[in-house]
Amino acid sequence: MRRNDNPILSKKQIWRSLVLLTMLSIAVSMCLSTVALLLTTTGKSGAVIEEKDLWASTLLLSALIPGIICPLVVHALLTTVRELNLVKAELDDMARKDALTGLLNRRGFDRAALELIASTRQGNRNIAVLMCDIDLFKRINDVHGHEGGDHVIRNVASTLSTVAAGWGRAVVGRQGGEEFAICVDGVTPRELANMAEALRRAVETSPILWEHHSICVTISLGTSLFPGREAELKSLMISADKALYEAKRRGRNRVERAVLPKAA
Ligand code: GH3
Ligand code: MG
Ligand code: MG
Repeated sequence: MRRNDNPILSKKQIWRSLVLLTMLSIAVSMCLSTVALLLTTTGKSGAVIEEKDLWASTLLLSALIPGIICPLVVHALLTTVRELNLVKAELDDMARKDALTGLLNRRGFDRAALELIASTRQGNRNIAVLMCDIDLFKRINDVHGHEGGDHVIRNVASTLSTVAAGWGRAVVGRQGGEEFAICVDGVTPRELANMAEALRRAVETSPILWEHHSICVTISLGTSLFPGREAELKSLMISADKALYEAKRRGRNRVERAVLPKAA
């Protein structure tokens, strides 16, 4: 999971801070005024105004001025901080996510997958990567136009993430074009084969409607699986990619797995 190192101030927190800071500034201001008055009035007599009145008006002013200025300044400052944090959170999201599908983009996927791998190392569970690529997608673009192609990419992304959501801790990302990657931990080779087959079948059996046409889409998949202590994202991706290439070479709409004898 991504650490929340940029907490956004709630409105309640802003008001709480505002009240606290105002009370603090009033207290400080009154203390300073008291000290100043003590220093200036001690030992002096014959003042133009009564000492009692002087104390009253000074303390009143010393409470009133910060009581008015402080809430205004603090509110403006904290509201600006809150807005900047909201913008930052939005920018962080944009940097991690793919605009077309809403999935993680390559950068976001790498970061999330690395975090998943780090946690599997501790538990020494297997970690797997599935690379998926839409078959003959260029033809879909040619027949249905770029917008039709985009619609297909969005739908396949949604099918993949819906299926993977049932697996627990799976990270799904768009690698670019019509290619997707999924990283999942704690699976056996047999479970991984079943997962890949479930994805393949889900896409194959979900025709996509576009401008009164039903577009039949298939994907090819390559999978790789490493024991947690040996897993490295780069080698997992390279192995899965090679297996994907093999799935394409062997006729598409199929799953191939990388040969990795060590995974239990
Ligand atoms: P294969 O089965 O071998 O994967 O064939 P393919 O036609 O799917 O493979 P290829 O990688 O040659 O074609 C992918 C095409 O996807 C090429 C590119 O124009 C198109 N493409 C890449 N990104 C996008 C996108 O965001 N939207 C759309 N509509 N098309 C895209
Ligand atoms: Mg393709
Ligand atoms: Mg491709």
